[in-house]
Amino acid sequence: MRIARYTAGEDPAFGIVEGEPGSEVVRQIAGDPIYAEPTPTGVVHDLVDVRLLAPVIPRSKIVGIGKNYADHVAEMGGGDAPTEPAMFLKPNTSVVGPDDPVVLPWQSTDVHYEGELAVVIGRLCKDVPHERVPEVVFGYTIANDVTARDLQRSDLQWARAKGFDTFCPLGPWLVTADELAVDDLAISTRLDGRTVQEGRTSQLIHDVVTLVSAVSEAFTLLPGDVILTGTPAGVGPMTDGQVVEVEVEGIGVLRNPVRDSGSGGPA
Ligand code: MG
Repeated sequence: MRIARYTAGEDPAFGIVEGEPGSEVVRQIAGDPIYAEPTPTGVVHDLVDVRLLAPVIPRSKIVGIGKNYADHVAEMGGGDAPTEPAMFLKPNTSVVGPDDPVVLPWQSTDVHYEGELAVVIGRLCKDVPHERVPEVVFGYTIANDVTARDLQRSDLQWARAKGFDTFCPLGPWLVTADELAVDDLAISTRLDGRTVQEGRTSQLIHDVVTLVSAVSEAFTLLPGDVILTGTPAGVGPMTDGQVVEVEVEGIGVLRNPVRDSGSGGPA
């Protein structure tokens, strides 16, 4: 099941997306599907008539994973791949939805895209053993783990480099875990239509099951929390006016324009 969060001009609602690309419809459901069985309300929209929103607003956190594809580890200056998943946090205020602009902050001159598979947690959990990970994963979506590369290098911590407003586009919808095997999905990023990243989730150093288990050993996970699984090689800068698209096989395409903040910094 593909589940979107959207607005048709009123309060945000959830809906099930059905149909082929270009002719999809959204069947509205009552409530939040993470917490209740999806029950159709009878309201149906053409997808083109609604504005998609981030499919989930994490209630507590987004956990990012750094250096989880060997070719990306190499392009970041080599060194050994982390023996344990390298975790960082992005605030939920960094989340935006499909077609929302990624706003370049004045503090950085080197803001990069990072296309990633994102895991959406479905229930409160802690210390989840590998074999029980399927019980806690609600579904999957696409993320752009936007990163101010210069600040990532100069700041002691990654909080600012990874956490500016608009630095976590999510979407275009989520696909429930029962319908998507994520062990070998193609993932790619395009900048103004030019392919800049290509990988497969089979290349993850720490796979999805390992990541969810390891993250849950550090943090209690809440329904709606999101884990970003890392990015393949090919990261690079985005500039004002460009359009970035991240595609994950079996999910769809997350598209966002990029624009300057319009702020020159502190007066
Ligand atoms: Mg990343």
